[in-house]
Amino acid sequence: MTDSAEFDAIRRRHHYRCCICRQPEKVTGTLLPVTGKTAEGDCTLPICPDHHVKYMHGFFTGTELKKIGISSEEYQHFLSLKKTGEQESGNGLSAEEKVTRTREETIKKIQKAQKMKMPKVHSDYKKEI
Ligand SMILES: [Zn+2]
Repeated sequence: MTDSAEFDAIRRRHHYRCCICRQPEKVTGTLLPVTGKTAEGDCTLPICPDHHVKYMHGFFTGTELKKIGISSEEYQHFLSLKKTGEQESGNGLSAEEKVTRTREETIKKIQKAQKMKMPKVHSDYKKEI
């Protein structure tokens, strides 16, 4: 996708700050590339590790997606592609596993609540995604 020299230049252009929270790399740890969009087309943007995990697990809000210029439809498409890739490789970091598990548990709770006809439970979560 992007080689490291190119990404170095991108990070420099963004003053070594996460494009979501604007925290400097010194504070957040090494910035990671994410594909966003500008008026000119696809581009690579630097985001902090925290936001990268959030992005990769489908937790980005509408406001955060706006900052990297992608629509929620494009985000959902990206997530569905990513899911296929994950099943093939079958590995993950413990922090990421934790996020995935939390998400799965939340989904299970929603499903359970829906079965019990209590749709009010976790309505906020649904709004987020
Ligand atoms: Zn950030």
